[in-house]
Amino acid sequence: MASGTTSLLRPEVIAKYQPVIGLEVHVQLATKTKIFCGCPTGFGAPPNTNVCPVCLGLPGALPVLNRAAVEMAVQAALALNCQINQFSRLARKNYFYPDLPKGYQISQYDEPLAAHGYVEIELNGVTKRIGVTRLHIEDDAGKSLHEGFKDSDRYTYVDLNRCGTPLIEIVSEPDIRTSEEAYAYLTALKQVLQFVEVSTCDMEKGHLRCDANVSVMLKGAEKFGTKAEVKNLNSFRFLKQALDYEIERQIAVIESGGQVVQETRLYDPDLGETFSMRSKEAAHDYRYFPEPDLAPVRISDSWLEAIRAKMPELPSAKKKRFLETYGLREYDAQVLTSTRALADYFETAARSSSDPKAVANWVMGDLMGALKAEGKDITESPIAPERLGELVTLISKGELSGKLAKEIFPKMLATGEAASTILEREGLRQISDAAALEPIIEQVLAANPKQVEQFRSGKTAVLGFFVGQVMKASRGQANPALVNEILKKKLL
Ligand code: ADP
Ligand code: ZN
Ligand code: MG
Repeated sequence: MASGTTSLLRPEVIAKYQPVIGLEVHVQLATKTKIFCGCPTGFGAPPNTNVCPVCLGLPGALPVLNRAAVEMAVQAALALNCQINQFSRLARKNYFYPDLPKGYQISQYDEPLAAHGYVEIELNGVTKRIGVTRLHIEDDAGKSLHEGFKDSDRYTYVDLNRCGTPLIEIVSEPDIRTSEEAYAYLTALKQVLQFVEVSTCDMEKGHLRCDANVSVMLKGAEKFGTKAEVKNLNSFRFLKQALDYEIERQIAVIESGGQVVQETRLYDPDLGETFSMRSKEAAHDYRYFPEPDLAPVRISDSWLEAIRAKMPELPSAKKKRFLETYGLREYDAQVLTSTRALADYFETAARSSSDPKAVANWVMGDLMGALKAEGKDITESPIAPERLGELVTLISKGELSGKLAKEIFPKMLATGEAASTILEREGLRQISDAAALEPIIEQVLAANPKQVEQFRSGKTAVLGFFVGQVMKASRGQANPALVNEILKKKLL
């Protein structure tokens, strides 16, 4: 389809149709070694150095299942509210590809590790559950690297380092209805998997890859339309763009009297279009059969319990607890539980202060603003959470004015020092001692007899003038509430 064709669709035509979307997401597990051999999984090693007979697919080499990979997959499945199948089977999925030397992928077929889960998404204040059909484990293939432009100088290289890296595939139910919901689903999925620390979910490194299945049907229809699969969407933005394009393309096909064909498509981010890659292969094309070199995966009750016991608090539970324990606003609780590191930082700071809501404001405002400006994330904060907590405590105890706190904060950022250390050194502590303030106030009154007269004749508004003068004379260190109090006593 030529560029821009779909944008000719009128909104009322688009509105006749209901898109249906299901996502298949591949996630690289954060194990140290590969799924069926002891080779390291590290990123960025020289090509073809992290390999052995097993992951090279040499004849006669035998795979051994990595226990840590199974454990992480179970953790992921539990985090996605899945039922764990304590008996599951590995299966061979046969196909040829230059970066797949075995000639097959070891995956799971009709007996996956886990099934029947869900992910909760929230859009415009409405919560919706997206079903997770299944979650299974499999090994990754290698990588083909294409180099050169001229025909005479074009080569494809194969790097097999990635062969045998452990993956989980998470298949959603066709419960997603808009590209925004797809985006929210992938966001929630990534967040929860990062929370349980089974994957970095770093899309740039290919640790999270997404294929989107899309169809459209007339609104109110009972049967879903024919779907197309858009493969290898390597960013959240491209996922949304590809879906929006593909939905309109399919509507245009149907509106012009054609039929959507079941096929695999690719998205070209430069053109903003999807294009056909190949007709869809069916499951029987892969000649799946139970993997003869590996025993079925059995997860004993005690192993499952041990894994359950190790599960961290998940984002939704954490958010709920933050709302209840710290009295945060909904939005703040949402932001502060967006990553585990941020939640941990906030909670440590909140516990070392007497005012958790003020801590939330400092973290989300000054601290995150400053970190963002330097391209850092919360784990790189120069200010330890306990020290931010202390700063907030000094303010709430009246030992530090809000104004002074804003002056101290950049110094804490620069040096990582405690607020109290900086205060001592620079002699900036707030003066909340009446005996120390009295002489300053006396001086100010003596220097401004006209204003004293005005106050006494009823112009009480000049009180603000006196407070300002005292603050100035004390280099901003006087406790304003106390200054007010003493001034009133002296003037009346
Ligand atoms: P296949 O057998 O073609 O692989 P599956 O039924 O296994 O299809 O589903 C693969 C993915 O496609 C799942 O995420 C599922 O939710 C989604 N899906 C299935 N049917 C449709 C449809 N008609 N429209 C959109 N997505 C669909
Ligand atoms: Zn190996
Ligand atoms: Mg399928």
